[in-house]
Amino acid sequence: MSATTSNPPVKAHANPRLEVPRDVIKRCVHCGLCLDFCPTYRLLGNELDSPRGRIYQIRAFSEGRIAADDPRFRLHMYRCLDCRACETACPSGVDYGRLIEAARAEIRATEMGEKVTRQVVLGGIFTSNAALDAAGTATRVYQKSGLQKVVRGSGLLKILPGPFKKLGEMESMLPDLPGGFIAARLPEHVIPTDGAPTHRVAFISGCIAARFFDTTNEATLRVLARNGCEIIVPRGQKCCGALHVHAGERDRARQLARHNIVEFERTGASVYIINAAGCGSTLKEYGELLDDDPIWRERAHEFAGRIRDINEFIAAIGPRGPLGRIDRVVTYQDACHLAHGQKIREQPRALIKAIPGIKLVEMRESDFCCGSAGIYNITQPEMANQLLELKMDAIVETGADAVIAPNPGCIIQIAAGIRKRGLTMDVIHPIDLLDQAYRIAEGS
Ligand code: SF4
Ligand code: SF4
Repeated sequence: MSATTSNPPVKAHANPRLEVPRDVIKRCVHCGLCLDFCPTYRLLGNELDSPRGRIYQIRAFSEGRIAADDPRFRLHMYRCLDCRACETACPSGVDYGRLIEAARAEIRATEMGEKVTRQVVLGGIFTSNAALDAAGTATRVYQKSGLQKVVRGSGLLKILPGPFKKLGEMESMLPDLPGGFIAARLPEHVIPTDGAPTHRVAFISGCIAARFFDTTNEATLRVLARNGCEIIVPRGQKCCGALHVHAGERDRARQLARHNIVEFERTGASVYIINAAGCGSTLKEYGELLDDDPIWRERAHEFAGRIRDINEFIAAIGPRGPLGRIDRVVTYQDACHLAHGQKIREQPRALIKAIPGIKLVEMRESDFCCGSAGIYNITQPEMANQLLELKMDAIVETGADAVIAPNPGCIIQIAAGIRKRGLTMDVIHPIDLLDQAYRIAEGS
């Protein structure tokens, strides 16, 4: 397909309601400068799997020339990682993330067969803290009781029949969870280490992070406290809705956004901190998510303006010393939703380099997606694996003994790549590394 090809006469489809202003679509001038930066175009070499080709299809959809339930339209929209590398490359400022998420929302509305799964997973589990706690504890029991070893050793997961195949793929991605059978419960209020607060912040603990990366959350609170922050952790906070937005479940994401706005306004904090890049990107877009809601618009924009990624925040206010010495060679993976979604690249590197003894070796194309992309590694395992292989090649080339990654999804994906290759590297969140340096300095 060429962007300049005239459109053949096709059947007009019933009035699609794409939730994006038309000028956002028209901003694409079909220059093609984004193509080489797009992971799916790089792998498949198909214009329909490029940013330009997808925008062309979305435009055709918005003009009624493609139906929402067209299987080819669905295929190319879901093959996209929503990594937003094309936004970074685009000289015309095309807001690609908004386009793909809006297109997926329209496709979702036609997928009756998947409605039950979505109802259970995105509607039931990810909107309920009790359900998330139960899922997190079940995973821990499975792993810590030794059952996981038995199941993996038996080879059972490799021979699961059709509908259960995905279960096996999901299981193979499970990271080794730190801690015990129950995830650590964060305190509701933390005071600064030196007792003199210079900032009052609220912490967004995340839905997956609170259950699977609880030790990184604890490290985040310690680092904030060492940098003069008084921290409030609202008990009633829920999932930020990032998974829902990426999957096209925008109404459910709005419900979660309204809930979280109320919970965080109550804290009276001036800044809300998040340590997961994918969530941070969505939280910073709450204003846009609720822009058509006259009752919530202003509060949503105010909320979004208070969000800071932990790397962004600590780099702006510190980090305060002393930091202990860590003699390691590390490399850094730019999480898509931090580098492309939030334009944060230098701050995590500055924190890593501030630690005495650390040598940071840059990897080739550090902002090229690792294939994690939310649940892409579950929904598109073949593409995700190919991207992971490319990423692992780039990592190995650096000679580093650890990969520093600022997003749980990247950590899980790269850890799986390390396991598959039988390497002995670590994957570490920048805040865990910084916390380690603080603890070394304190001798704790
Ligand atoms: S978001 Fe990523 S995968 Fe999707 S079109 Fe843009 S660069 Fe390609
Ligand atoms: S770089 Fe931007 S304007 Fe050019 S084709 Fe890609 S999305 Fe369109």
